Amino acid sequence: MSAPVLTLANVSKRFVKPLDVSEKIANLLGAHRKPQVVRAVDGVDLTIMSGEVIGLVGESGCGKSTLGRIVAGIQKPSEGVVAFKGQDIARMNKTERFQANLAVQMVFQDPMGSLNPRMKVIDVVGEAPVVHGIIQAQQKEGYVSDLLGRVGLDSSAMRRYPHQFSGGQRARIGIARALAVNPTMLVCDEATAALDVSIQAQIINLFVTLRQEFGLTYLFVSHDLGVVAHVADRVAVMYLGRIVESGPTEALFASPNHPYTQALLSEVPRLEPKKKSFSSLNSEIPSPLNPPSGCSFHTRCPRAFARCKAERPALKEIGGGRMSACHLNDR
Ligand code: SF4
Repeated sequence: MSAPVLTLANVSKRFVKPLDVSEKIANLLGAHRKPQVVRAVDGVDLTIMSGEVIGLVGESGCGKSTLGRIVAGIQKPSEGVVAFKGQDIARMNKTERFQANLAVQMVFQDPMGSLNPRMKVIDVVGEAPVVHGIIQAQQKEGYVSDLLGRVGLDSSAMRRYPHQFSGGQRARIGIARALAVNPTMLVCDEATAALDVSIQAQIINLFVTLRQEFGLTYLFVSHDLGVVAHVADRVAVMYLGRIVESGPTEALFASPNHPYTQALLSEVPRLEPKKKSFSSLNSEIPSPLNPPSGCSFHTRCPRAFARCKAERPALKEIGGGRMSACHLNDR
């Protein structure tokens, strides 16, 4: 690990929730309802070093998938800077931005939904590298055959359609497609969540092998702490759009600092691979349309005190390469 591949500085993403029919009617009758704004990602700083595997965890709706899509260049941030290899992507020329986007590829949870059902695998995997001039059209067959072998599929898969494969095989095709454009980094958004546990383990092991083979950097977006503990060098924990704790995986799992991380980990005492959610956190995550004041975790935090409701804690270094956003660290 040496230089940063991706750097996010104060990145936010807002979505506007349009008025529904009843709100529009209320406005016609004289009310003054305004569209609500959701801050899905709120002031995130994150540096991902070359060769590093970062696990991004948090409950459903915490903004981790939106952050993953920003990293992959699929969504633009509303504010802040996303830099690829030190260069602000928003200030790149068209060619540079295109190269940066190709270098960070996304692997999706539902490969079937992202694979064109009318295309044979040879085209699913081989079309982009031909279009982008990475290979010549006549090299496609050999290139795709080689990639399929690297993800554990026989080259005969080339002539078949996505629906003719199992979920695990489709996941492998999705990975081969991502690898086909020579990425530097893969963003895996719940990439194994739809698979059976035994198949999940095979795909996770494939990611580990490919990391070594291709020198890849990964952002693993997952609600499955078992997966993250297995693959990640470093973990970032998100709550209501913000990173509340980050640090080396082993240290963070051994002694979580932030009360939210502690709550998450207490749910998975031995990182049971089958444990899929944080359901026993004993209340619902607040709506991002109306986040709590101060520390946004204060409505659920067993250790909250007066300052927590009034003042938002900054993400600060707490030693050992770790960061946490909790007022308890100032006491
Ligand atoms: Fe809990 Fe307060 Fe720390 Fe937030 S700042 S996690 S409410 S103790």
